Amino acid sequence: MKKHNFYAGPAILPEPVLRQAAEAVHSFEDMGLSILEISHRSKQFTSVLEEASTTASELLGLGDDFHVLFLTGGASSQFFMTCMNFLNQDETAVYVDTGTWSTKAIKEAKRFGNIDVLASSADKNYSYIPKGYDVPSNAKFIHLTGNNTIFGTQLHALPQTDVPVVCDMSSDIFSRTIDPSRYGLIYAGAQKNLGPAGTTLVMIKKDGLKKADRDIATMLDYDTHIKKGSAFNTPPVYPIYVCLLTMRWLKEQGGVSAMELRNEEKAALLYDEIDRNVMFKGAAAKEDRSLMNATFIMNDGKQDLESEFLSLCDEAGIVGIKGHRSVGGFRASIYNAMEKESVEILTDVMRTFEEKFG
Ligand SMILES: *Cc1c(COP(=O)(O)O)cnc(C)c1O
Repeated sequence: MKKHNFYAGPAILPEPVLRQAAEAVHSFEDMGLSILEISHRSKQFTSVLEEASTTASELLGLGDDFHVLFLTGGASSQFFMTCMNFLNQDETAVYVDTGTWSTKAIKEAKRFGNIDVLASSADKNYSYIPKGYDVPSNAKFIHLTGNNTIFGTQLHALPQTDVPVVCDMSSDIFSRTIDPSRYGLIYAGAQKNLGPAGTTLVMIKKDGLKKADRDIATMLDYDTHIKKGSAFNTPPVYPIYVCLLTMRWLKEQGGVSAMELRNEEKAALLYDEIDRNVMFKGAAAKEDRSLMNATFIMNDGKQDLESEFLSLCDEAGIVGIKGHRSVGGFRASIYNAMEKESVEILTDVMRTFEEKFG
């Protein structure tokens, strides 16, 4: 039976990408070798790195304005690398706390400078995106989490400010168009919406944020990787290659704007059912709902039916729908690679569940 993969991360990848990735494990291009056993300095892999960087820029419309890096250490390492590289001890960066990942970013940032948390939605278990706060113009940057993977909220508009935005786009990279002129740095762990775990895409505006004065360990210094085109040491060859395959697929699908329309359609289908169905209710404020991770819980009085719904999902081949422990209920991650058909299977099961138990 076909499985419908709603896992939050590592997560679904496009079928053609998986097929090409599998082929490359046996034989990469014309080399007669596996991609797993070739030099990261071979001309074949050098060209993968170059194409991966240019395709990322192209998909987001970055022009030639950003350095594009494929690093290791996960998005979690960017929580500190951003500040280590770009914030002096006597400078201030401002953060908005919209969930677990923002909280972790704030914790790491505090080691390197003054961190002001401008707003937080912790008071309501991160079920909404704070708005209406003022961004002080002397802040070096404002750190935002584009999409809150765990709580199912998404930033649908940037705050009004000239302060450069540093953004964690781990779970919504390439899912929607952006205005590159607002950003100083964008980072994204690959394993949500781009590729396998093992690499992190980091895009740094050229002549953007001024470098901090501190002495930085070579591997943690962005300049090291900028100078060496992400190949100062052995980069994660296979994850980067699979990211490239996904980005080629994205281009074939019509690019990020086409993907955005598809994502809006899939999310509308699912949220309409959540709102219509008497068994469920959404977990996040409507205006802040994520197009990538839809969180929903059992409606009042229906809480003891959770496991019945999960077994219906299981019978339909639906995988990875159980909610994160900090929200409970259910979370359907409907990333770029998810077909509308899989969302329809889920909404069908929701209707069946309502007919049986409602
Ligand atoms: C998953 C996730 C992270 C953590 O990524 P790692 O690569 O595991 O460090 C950070 N931010 C967001 C928004 C995420 O979804």
